[in-house]
Amino acid sequence: MNENINTITAIATPHGTGGVAVIRISGEYAIARANEIFVSIQGKSPLDMKGYTCAYGYVMQENQKLDDCVLTVFRAPYSYTGEDVVEISCHGGRFLTQKILRAVLCEKVRLAEAGEFTKRAFLNGKLSLTQAEAVADLISASGENAVKYARSLRDGATFRKISEFSEILLRILSSLAVWADYPDEDIPDINAENLEKDLQELLCNMQKLMKSYDYGRILREGLHTVIVGKPNVGKSTLFNALSGYERSIVTEIAGTTRDIVEEQIRLGEVILRLSDTAGVHGTSDRIEQIGVEKSLASLAHADLILAVFDLSLPLSQEDEALLEKLPSEKTIIICNKLDKGAVWNFSDFSTFSPVEIVEISAKNQNQLQDLEQAVEQFALRQASPAEDGMIANERQRICLQQAIQAVQEALEALQLGFAYDAVTVSLDGASDALLQLTGERVTDKVVDTVFARFCVGK
Ligand code: GDP
Repeated sequence: MNENINTITAIATPHGTGGVAVIRISGEYAIARANEIFVSIQGKSPLDMKGYTCAYGYVMQENQKLDDCVLTVFRAPYSYTGEDVVEISCHGGRFLTQKILRAVLCEKVRLAEAGEFTKRAFLNGKLSLTQAEAVADLISASGENAVKYARSLRDGATFRKISEFSEILLRILSSLAVWADYPDEDIPDINAENLEKDLQELLCNMQKLMKSYDYGRILREGLHTVIVGKPNVGKSTLFNALSGYERSIVTEIAGTTRDIVEEQIRLGEVILRLSDTAGVHGTSDRIEQIGVEKSLASLAHADLILAVFDLSLPLSQEDEALLEKLPSEKTIIICNKLDKGAVWNFSDFSTFSPVEIVEISAKNQNQLQDLEQAVEQFALRQASPAEDGMIANERQRICLQQAIQAVQEALEALQLGFAYDAVTVSLDGASDALLQLTGERVTDKVVDTVFARFCVGK
């Protein structure tokens, strides 16, 4: 890449055949280059066009018309990147767009790198780093909630929330600085009790924001869902019914699902990462035993547990032992084999209070919609897009975690009666971590890593 060439171009629309494609040019030379390759039907020159105006005409190369197109001019700083930008909307199709792209390229215009348009928007102060990251999320978002979530980040909710925290920290830091720097002046003593209260409140709000990381993860990756139950209750049959085709081995012989099979399925708005586990029961078969151990371990990490019981047989000790291991707040009880006739009723039998109890027939796929509804409602409760900001990725999570830890250290220093200098050092650290989160103080390496996730043209 020639770093001296600062005007960049790329196809901004996805590859493939479509009605319209857009080629974007951004930088100092963008409008001049457009003027060299574009002939307007009405004789308008791009050089004379105001921002947010367009012209109809032809892209030309060596006196040949390549395509008729609409050219839109955006003038700095009122553009996506904050620079002069030209967008050429031409007919879709890989051959034609590549040809026009080649016509735009010249010794003063080079091909953009992945994410370079959005990187420029960030460097020119048009977006915070959290907003820029959300652009990448929006492009890859699947499902309405994921879009809402990415949009809330794109609109700057996270940036505003973090700025609120930063302002509180700066206010505290400045009062500590005044007190330390002008000991002889008539400045009121710092009230340690109030300071502690302020820091506790700040910590509590930061921890609340941290929780949103899980919501975002569920929307992006789906709910990690585990199907458990003793052998032969119909776990594999349910798994196959939900995933729509035979993946697990379904047999009459107890204990045939020996390992964990994973499948990603969509239920309405929700993505489930579904694991079918080995039946949870006492066994002496070593391979089966490993499967059972894995099943129990997977319960702890699951977002949602689908616990399956057989309605047609009385509940056994194994069923009861399983119930004791289940966290009720993330368990849906599935009473299966309804078609064979129920010999017991879950609510009469147990005081366990799960998210929901549903009765189904996995084999005949009856009442599966009740299960789908219960899962969807659970997922939406877990992952409703937050209005006031969300932590979207690992980079942001680490920065916020550092800030939380630093505020905790400041509180400890205060409670142990250390000099205010110690509190100041920790709070400085917290403030720095927050500035890194929003990208206001960030290294080139971090910026490059963030934008490397993007596709070319964004
Ligand atoms: P797993 O060991 O819990 O995975 O159980 P499977 O899915 O392998 O099912 C065990 C047996 O129960 C198979 O013969 C299934 O066809 C049968 N089965 C599963 N669900 C139902 C159901 O809803 N009704 C009836 N009648 N049989 C079922």
